[in-house]
Amino acid sequence: MLSRNLQVSKRRLLLFAGSVFIVQSIRPLNKAIASLSVSQDRPYWRFCNKCYVMFYTDAETNSCAAGGTHSAQGYKFRLPFGGSETPTRQRSWRCCKKCQAMFFNGYSRKGICPAGGGHVADQTFAYVLPHDVPGTPTAQTDWRFCNKCHAMFFDGYSDKGQCAAGESHVAQGYNFVLPHSR
Ligand SMILES: [Zn+2]
Ligand SMILES: [Zn+2]
Ligand SMILES: [Zn+2]
Repeated sequence: MLSRNLQVSKRRLLLFAGSVFIVQSIRPLNKAIASLSVSQDRPYWRFCNKCYVMFYTDAETNSCAAGGTHSAQGYKFRLPFGGSETPTRQRSWRCCKKCQAMFFNGYSRKGICPAGGGHVADQTFAYVLPHDVPGTPTAQTDWRFCNKCHAMFFDGYSDKGQCAAGESHVAQGYNFVLPHSR
């Protein structure tokens, strides 16, 4: 079990090195465009159609607030990481190593994890996520921070999913625009 986890971490770090090069070579062009340009060779993220959070797919297991494990639907998201915060990019987003949800790690309180307690950041990518820019055919709007569980969830439906803190997610702050494959 332990050696398997180490293997995954190593793979993520190798992929990280490749993607940083791409992001840096694009940077001089345009900040808004560069923030939406990411490498296509990394494992991807999906929307869970049970709890509505963004979750990481390349993990052995995960935990869903609606019970059991997450259920993937829709786009394959490739989320940008590394680099500094700008007026349209927010730092401190991490993958929770217990539930595999994307959550905001910038507060001292870490929200509510469906696996129990608060979310716990894994030690891989430091995501820097674009917000309040126009959506495109390969970047979806209406992703929000939930101020109850601290996860990233899709706010584009009238139903707001299942929050690990009980009832539905509640949106606060920026409107995130997240890049995905066609
Ligand atoms: Zn879920
Ligand atoms: Zn969690
Ligand atoms: Zn929530």
